[in-house]
Amino acid sequence: MGKALIIGCGGVASVVIHKCCQNSEVFSEIMIASRTKSKCDALKEKLGGGKTKIQTAKVDADNIEELITLINGFKPNVVLNLALPYQDLTIMEACLATKTNYVDTANYEPKDTAKFEYKWQWAYRERFEKAGITALLGSGFDPGVTGVFSAYAQKHHFNEINYIDILDANAGDHGYPFATNFNPEINIREVTAKGSYWEDGRWVETEPMEIKRVYNFPQIGEKDMYLLHHEELESLALNIKGIKRIRFFMTFGQSYLTHLKCLQNVGMTSIEPIEFEGKKIVPLQFLKAVLPDPASLGPRTKGKTNIGCIFRGKKDGRDKTYYLYNVCDHQECYREVGSQAISYTTGVPAMIGASLVMQRIWKKPGVFNIEEFDPDPFMDALNKWGLPWQESFNPVLVD
Ligand code: NDP
Repeated sequence: MGKALIIGCGGVASVVIHKCCQNSEVFSEIMIASRTKSKCDALKEKLGGGKTKIQTAKVDADNIEELITLINGFKPNVVLNLALPYQDLTIMEACLATKTNYVDTANYEPKDTAKFEYKWQWAYRERFEKAGITALLGSGFDPGVTGVFSAYAQKHHFNEINYIDILDANAGDHGYPFATNFNPEINIREVTAKGSYWEDGRWVETEPMEIKRVYNFPQIGEKDMYLLHHEELESLALNIKGIKRIRFFMTFGQSYLTHLKCLQNVGMTSIEPIEFEGKKIVPLQFLKAVLPDPASLGPRTKGKTNIGCIFRGKKDGRDKTYYLYNVCDHQECYREVGSQAISYTTGVPAMIGASLVMQRIWKKPGVFNIEEFDPDPFMDALNKWGLPWQESFNPVLVD
């Protein structure tokens, strides 16, 4: 039916490419383009020969001209950005220049300040609208499915939602004392930053990992979780009616936290370049080079993830509570697509978002966060493509 250009060929992209090949009715042709072409070729070798026609290319996604040439040559219906958040703006520029729809899973972050915000991408709203193309921002799990869950709760269960707690639990064990489940540089930048949550129309800032809660997750059990700043808080605070507070919690094990503290204390998580043997290096980038590649965790990781949202608000004048979540098993993901559940829970929604844009089921010109679209086709697709959701009307609340 259509063509997708996939940029990046890491952990998340690998899942997306498997899923596009499963969904060949929509993805009749894909091009995988990344910095290291051999990774694209390896996937083509593994998955080519099916109904989805696969091509590969080398691209530096920091270079707008290279991107434009690639897009003009392939003429995709959508560009799916699965490189790093640093490349969001160059890829959006290339989409504008070629009038091509754009989808990503993480908001832009400048390399030199560990601060992610939507303002840089929201600044493209008018230009995308005038060009008549759609940019769908944040089509992973969180952000992504958490926004779809919020839009679904708002559409079907509430007149107004006053409180949202997003809970992200990973009970997977990879057997390493310390490793990150997605790109280590991005992951460590996120968890070492100050925490924050939205309350009564303003941001409340916390020290990193200052707020801890214990929660008994369905199918996982009791876990320590910590309040983090997370990008969907920013858009949900604007897009959900009647919101008074939104918080985001993620679980971390004690071994991860102890190692992280030590690495921070010795300066290994810093993004300030230092001089080393006559060369400038960024300590965090060096750390990334010595840590296990997240894509290699698949065969070793056992256990489940549980990610979801607890909503509280009003329906027909009454107080209502509603919990929507997905449970995903690391080993089942590995058996299906050769990746662990963190890449899987991001890759499946990225494929679904791109497919809805490609089929013009989600079609409006401009730049939008995922909760601004009709959630129903996405919720159906989650059940169909491997991330079935569950609901509860009487969950234990987080204090
Ligand atoms: P990886 O590091 O595994 O993959 C990133 C890929 O991008 C690599 O193939 C890398 O190339 C490529 N790349 C990096 N820079 C460039 C460039 N300048 N030009 C071309 N290609 C480039 O990351 P993940 O797959 O773990 O994560 C991908 C994205 O998904 C990230 O933005 C991450 O933040 C996001 N994410 C979103 C989640 C969500 O729920 N919303 C959850 C998890 C991740 P090379 O192979 O040469 O290094």
